Amino acid sequence: MSATSVATEAIVSLPVADLENDGLLGMFPDGPRLIGTRCDDCGRAMLGERVVCSSCVSTQVSRIALPTTGVLYSYTRLHVGADGVRPLGYVDLDDDVRTLADLREDTIPLVPGLRVELVVDGDAWFFAPVDRARDRKKEND
Ligand SMILES: [Zn+2]
Repeated sequence: MSATSVATEAIVSLPVADLENDGLLGMFPDGPRLIGTRCDDCGRAMLGERVVCSSCVSTQVSRIALPTTGVLYSYTRLHVGADGVRPLGYVDLDDDVRTLADLREDTIPLVPGLRVELVVDGDAWFFAPVDRARDRKKEND
C-alpha cells in the first residue's frame, strides 16, 4: 500500500479592501468636497474613495468630488447627554449618492425633500438648508 500525500492547507484569498481610507472630506480645486468614486465601466457614483465598484465589481474606478448640494431624504434628532440635540439624516446628493450626515437647522425647519448644502467648518462637515448654508458662507467671508 502506497501513501499519497493530501494537501490539507486551503488556499486563502484575501478580501479586497473596499474603502481606500476612512476620510470622506478632501480638498479639490474648488474647495473642500466629499470624496466619491465613479466606476469607469458602469458609471455608478459611490461615497468615499473605493477600489472596487459596489455595483459591477469593476476595479476601473476614478476619484471624484461629489456635489455639494442635495435633498434631505429623511432625518432624526438624537438626544445625546449634555450635547443637546443632534440632527442626523440621509442626504441624496445631486449625483444620486445617498450619505448619512450631521445636519444643522435654525430658522428653516428640516423636512424631507428640503434642499440642503454641504458646509465645511474646519475638519467638521454637515449639511444645512441651502439658504442657511449661504448665510454661513457670508459670515465666514
Ligand atoms: Zn461599476
